[in-house]
Amino acid sequence: MISLLRGYLIEDGGLIAYADSPAEGKRLAAHDQKETQKKKVLVLGTGWAGTSFLKDLDISNYDVQVVSPRNYFAFTPLLPSVTCGTVEARSIVEPRNGEIKFWEAECLKVDPTNKKVFCRSNIDENLAGNNEFSLEYDYLIIAIGAQVNTFNTPGVMEHCHFLKEVEDAQRIRRTVIDCFEKAVLPGLTEEERRTNLHFVIVGGGPTGVEFAAELHDFVHEDLVKIYPSVKDLVSITVIQSGHRVMSVSDRMINMRTKSTGEDISIPHGMVVWSTGVGTRPVVKDFMEQIGQGNRRVLATDEWLRVKGCEEVYALGDCATVDQKKIVEDIAEIFKAADKDNSGTLTIEEFQDVIEDIVIRMEKCKQNPEGPRKFRSGGRHEFRLSGTDILVNLLHLAESKQQLSCQEIGFPWAEYTMAMVFCIRKDSSMTTMSRFLVSVWFSGS
Ligand SMILES: Cc1cc2nc3c(=O)[nH]c(=O)nc-3n(C[C@H](O)[C@H](O)[C@H](O)COP(=O)(O)OP(=O)(O)OC[C@H]3O[C@@H](n4cnc5c(N)ncnc54)[C@H](O)[C@@H]3O)c2cc1C
Repeated sequence: MISLLRGYLIEDGGLIAYADSPAEGKRLAAHDQKETQKKKVLVLGTGWAGTSFLKDLDISNYDVQVVSPRNYFAFTPLLPSVTCGTVEARSIVEPRNGEIKFWEAECLKVDPTNKKVFCRSNIDENLAGNNEFSLEYDYLIIAIGAQVNTFNTPGVMEHCHFLKEVEDAQRIRRTVIDCFEKAVLPGLTEEERRTNLHFVIVGGGPTGVEFAAELHDFVHEDLVKIYPSVKDLVSITVIQSGHRVMSVSDRMINMRTKSTGEDISIPHGMVVWSTGVGTRPVVKDFMEQIGQGNRRVLATDEWLRVKGCEEVYALGDCATVDQKKIVEDIAEIFKAADKDNSGTLTIEEFQDVIEDIVIRMEKCKQNPEGPRKFRSGGRHEFRLSGTDILVNLLHLAESKQQLSCQEIGFPWAEYTMAMVFCIRKDSSMTTMSRFLVSVWFSGS
C-alpha cells in the first residue's frame, strides 16, 4: 500500500502534512479548502434537545462545535432514583461525543448581528489561560434548557435543594443520610429528631411526587433497618397548591394558607424545591435583543427557526413552536370565498375556492417554501396529511364519539369543503365535526 502522507511536521503548535506527489498535494489542498468552506454549526447545550439534534446531524458536512457547562448527557427521568441510590449516577449519564469539538463553558451572550456567541468556562480559574472566549457561527442551535424557578421566594436559593442536575441528586442523597445521622445522635430531644427527619417537597408535579415516592421507599425498605430507633419519627410532606410558600430558612418553611390567609411555619430537616422551570438569563437577554422580550421562552416557526433573526434555531425547554392557528386560516379562506359577504357560500363561490386551493396546492408542491434540506437538495415541503387534519379537527370539536375516524385518510378537497362550510357564522364546533364525519361517510 502506498503511503499517502510522508510525515508530519509540528510548527508553531500546528500540524502540517506533506504529500508524495503534486497530485496528492492538490488533493490535500482541495480537502483543506473544503474543510474551511464547511458551514459552522454551533450547538449550545448537551441536554435532550442538543444531543438529539447532534445524533441526527451528518457531522462530516459541517464544522460542528458544542458549548455546554456539562460534558455529558443526563437521562433526567431517572434522576429521582439517584437521590436514594436505586440507580447510580454513572448509569444515567452518557459522555460527550469525542468526534465533535466541545468546549466546557457557558454561553453568556448571543450577538445575532455579528453571528457570534460569548462564553465563559467555569473550569478552575487558577489553571493557566483565560476562561472567556467568543465563537463565530453560520448556524446557531440554542438548546440550553431552562433553570429552576424560585418565584423570587426569599431563602429558597440558600436553603432548598433542587432536582435538575446529577449533582443535585447526589447532594440530596448525602443530605438525607446526614438528616438520619444527626437524628440518632445522643442528647437530642424527640422534637429535634422529628424536625431533622421531616422531609418537605415543594411542588406536587411529576418530579416532586416521584422524589417523594422514592424517598418513602428508601426510608421504609432500607433506612429503617439502619436507623431503627427513629423509624417512627420520619415524615414526608408534599406542599401543593393549597399553600403559598412565603419564605424558607435553614430550619423553617413559612407558608400562607390560600383559603384562610392564615400564616403557618413548619420545621424541616430538608426541603426539595420542585415548582417548575423559568427562563435562563442568556435566553432572556437574547429575547430582548430580537423583540421577544415579553415572552417566557423563545418563539420559533414550524422549522424551529427563531422568529426575528436569521440562521438561529432553538429547541427543547428554552423554546416553543408558534403554531399556526388552523381555524384562523380557514376563517381567512372563507372570508375571501364569501364574495357577497352573506355569511354562507353559494355553490359557485364554493367551487371557486376549491379550484383556487387545488391550483395553489400544485404550485406549492412545485416550489416548496420550507427551509433548505440538510441531507439532499431542494427545500422541505409543508405536509399535512388528511388524517392529521381530521384528528386536529376532531380534537377541536372535543367530540369523543367520532375519534374512531382517526385512522381514516381524508382527501384534501373534502377537507377544505368541510372547513369552508363549517366556519359559517352559525356553525358550532360540534356541527363542524359532525359535518366532517358526514362528508367522510358520504365520500366513502
Ligand atoms: C427529575 C426530572 C425528571 C424528568 N422526567 C421527565 C420525563 O419523564 N419525561 C419527560 O418528557 N421529561 C422529563 N423531564 C423534563 C426533561 O428533562 C426536560 O424537558 C428536558 O431535559 C429538556 O431538554 P433540553 O435539552 O431543553 O434541556 P436540558 O436537558 O436541561 O439541557 C440543557 C443543556 O444546556 C446546558 N446549558 C445550560 N446553560 C447553558 C449555557 N448558558 N450555555 C450553554 N449550555 C448551557 C446544560 O448544561 C444542559 O446540557 C424531567 C426533568 C427532571 C428534572
